Amino acid sequence: MYDVVIGLEVHIQLNTQSKLFSGAAIKFGQAPNSQACAIDLALPGVLPVLNKEAVHQAIKFGLATKATINKVNIFARKNYFYPDLPKGYQISQANYPIVSDGELTFDVNGIKKSVHIVRAHLEEDAGKSIHDLLQDYSAIDLNRAGCPLLEIVTAPEFYSSDEVIAYLKTLHRLVRHLNICDGNMQEGSFRVDVNISLRPKDTTILGTRCEIKNINSFRFIEKAIQYEIERQGAILEKGDKVIQQTRLFQESTGKTIAMRDKEDAQDYRYFPCPDLFPVHISQELLDEIASQMPPLPEDLLAQLTGHYELSEYDAQILIDNTALLQFFFKAIKEQQTPSPKAMANWLLSDISGFANKNQIAFEDLKISPADIALLVDRVNDKTLSSKTAKQVLTFLFEGQTHVDKIITDHNLKQVSDVGALTQAIAEVLEQFPAQRAELKSGKDKLMGFFVGQVMKKMRGTGNPEEVQRIIQDLC
Ligand code: ADP
Ligand code: MG
Repeated sequence: MYDVVIGLEVHIQLNTQSKLFSGAAIKFGQAPNSQACAIDLALPGVLPVLNKEAVHQAIKFGLATKATINKVNIFARKNYFYPDLPKGYQISQANYPIVSDGELTFDVNGIKKSVHIVRAHLEEDAGKSIHDLLQDYSAIDLNRAGCPLLEIVTAPEFYSSDEVIAYLKTLHRLVRHLNICDGNMQEGSFRVDVNISLRPKDTTILGTRCEIKNINSFRFIEKAIQYEIERQGAILEKGDKVIQQTRLFQESTGKTIAMRDKEDAQDYRYFPCPDLFPVHISQELLDEIASQMPPLPEDLLAQLTGHYELSEYDAQILIDNTALLQFFFKAIKEQQTPSPKAMANWLLSDISGFANKNQIAFEDLKISPADIALLVDRVNDKTLSSKTAKQVLTFLFEGQTHVDKIITDHNLKQVSDVGALTQAIAEVLEQFPAQRAELKSGKDKLMGFFVGQVMKKMRGTGNPEEVQRIIQDLC
């Protein structure tokens, strides 16, 4: 029997405004070649200019993964020929990456695991060859050429696909949280190469690996790993050797197919790019970026589930949505008596529900943290029932402000006054004599009916607990 060993290389596209070495934009889905300037086209005489923001984003990633930020890092030319690489080389980092020796901790089915991040280096993306557009030709789109990538490489320390997926989800969350990558897998902003080998159970020497390139969905990654475990296992069972290969995952069949063997591996003839100076990173810059770092997802999770007693599920939704999270913190700060759990409930159910239903981004809703804070306070101090609070919320969504004014203007104050309630209840009981008799004879199910009728009569303003108590008394 065999154990599986996996190491990952993830390319994230950094979300800068422009390319790594040119001023062309990097917006996805634009007309072919409309975002390729002279530098991306490699016209003679052009020179690359490093994008400072990409360097800052790489540093953020390094700080978030407790890595070493290399104060001097060097760009190198990785030489190979391909039609969508007009320079004939890709500018990457070889021996001197910007980030090395980091770690990422994640949760695999309730157990914490840390994996060593060997390096993370900056490099430019290649263009795109499109083979199925024109009859007898291949088409080249250079919009992607020069887009800024950070390649994040782990040690071979994953021993199941569950661990791989847990790491990738944590990484995906982290880079979005740091606002350095949009994480869009369909558009190729987060691409995964899986290196995978088998070795006899409980041995330590690594087996020969295959690399499955550019898989862009978590489900396909799981499938590809499963397929490779079976394929390599069958080869080893027969006493044959696995050939070191680059393979492709085929979505239609769920199989991996060979792309090239190690024998065909290219010698990239890396050498320092003479067009670019080594990058020097000062301690001042490091300190400045460190001071602007948002709290990390794991720290937020601990705070939200610990101090604020939210469920892990709710906490995770807030962490994944910066606008919601910031709103949450602001709103509980504005409350008379902060009630984080209730606040999270309002934000994640009624308020997010309204945004989703109307396809409005949360940040475009016309609500303010102060108003929502007061709304939740008014439920807590029993001025509003949950029903009338929802009505107030509707007015807030329409752009009205001042919760107390809305309550007065629309007469939504919860009525707990026994006299007023008794009068409404008596009328309802009179209106439905048959049901009243049934309730009296012990048919408790009718209690809900009567409470509902009273609430309807009072436009939701009755205090439901009081209403129920008085109905019981009068019956
Ligand atoms: P290369 O430079 O040839 O791409 P690296 O040593 O940089 O090789 O490794 C690339 C990736 O492959 C890393 O994520 C590493 O963890 C992984 N890897 C290396 N050897 C193995 C192996 N035997 N089994 C599984 N993964 C491996
Ligand atoms: Mg590699």
